[in-house]
Amino acid sequence: QCRVFCPTGAISIRTNMDEVWDAINDPDTRVIAQVAPAVRVAVGDAFGLTKGHSVMGKLVAVLHRMGFDEVYDTTFAADLTIMEESKEFLNRVEKNEKLPLLTSCCPAWVKFVCDQYPEFKDNLSTCRSPQGMFSAVIKEYYKNPERSQNKKTFVVSIMPCTAKKMEILRSNNFTHGEQDTDIVLTTTEIIRMINNSGIDFASQETEACDMPFGFGSGAGAIFGVTGGVTEAMLRRLADDHNKATMDAIAEAGARGDEGIKEFTVNYKGTDLNVCVASGLANAQTVMEDVKSGRKHYHIIEIMACRRGCIMGGGQPPRAGDRTKSARRDGLYQADHVTSIRKADENPLILALYDTLLKDKTHELLHVDKY
Ligand code: SF4
Repeated sequence: QCRVFCPTGAISIRTNMDEVWDAINDPDTRVIAQVAPAVRVAVGDAFGLTKGHSVMGKLVAVLHRMGFDEVYDTTFAADLTIMEESKEFLNRVEKNEKLPLLTSCCPAWVKFVCDQYPEFKDNLSTCRSPQGMFSAVIKEYYKNPERSQNKKTFVVSIMPCTAKKMEILRSNNFTHGEQDTDIVLTTTEIIRMINNSGIDFASQETEACDMPFGFGSGAGAIFGVTGGVTEAMLRRLADDHNKATMDAIAEAGARGDEGIKEFTVNYKGTDLNVCVASGLANAQTVMEDVKSGRKHYHIIEIMACRRGCIMGGGQPPRAGDRTKSARRDGLYQADHVTSIRKADENPLILALYDTLLKDKTHELLHVDKY
């Protein structure tokens, strides 16, 4: 088996590229890709394109050329996460229980809480990560024999993250005892596969994602940068979507490269204390403050990688300050050019709740325990 090495040198990770080629070459298998937000701003410069610019449209085109039957955007599932996590958060605030709510979309952070602060396990959101939610929804969709046409469904998620390879193997993320995501490819692995395919990435015309899960809001796109989950949730809680409201939320305090950010927002008369941190050393500082009673928050967003998934362990290494800023700005730009900025205004999400997710939100979108 090939091995790829983590940039810190601390661990080696098994690669799964051969398994993906085997699935693509099997006529009885439908191979479906989902692409995380941070990937699109880290791929282009490997093919001579402008650093940090989103190349999602070209990536979709290349994945189709490589043989993926369907290509989806994980921002769609980030919208689902926001819908579920906002509901869970408001419920906890109303009951004044299990606060602060700890976000759960970063598997390295979830593991850190379970190992280092097990007394806070119940504070973790029960929401699966966007990757987990999306794969569960796709597998459920193709359980219908008319849709599957007797083909096996094989889900490949393309992630900026090596920890996501572990997340898919944790049984509390399974649906009905079965693994939902079949393989995780990191950004560096997909770049290698594109190179091996001989396809000229830079010259591809852009293509849109497939239906029925082919659109995510701008709020889903900013999940890839620290503070993005919080900003997306604040948008969800806002009553309107005009520019002034979106600008005010952007300036509330979630944005910026600092390792720990704190601010207070008022929601219908209640002051909510928010903490956003990235990097596990900063996470430890935050948790020690909470444990000792020095700090009181209602919600804490943590990403294990400094600056969030744009700097994940599966992204092309040796990213200097210019690259870090370009990836961050690329995601904010992707949000900026999306007309739907709130998860709850994504029509595909609303339709999903009325159909496939009816009576199945907990089963497909949440974990029972950590
Ligand atoms: Fe993975 Fe890092 Fe993102 Fe966490 S912050 S999900 S470890 S890339």
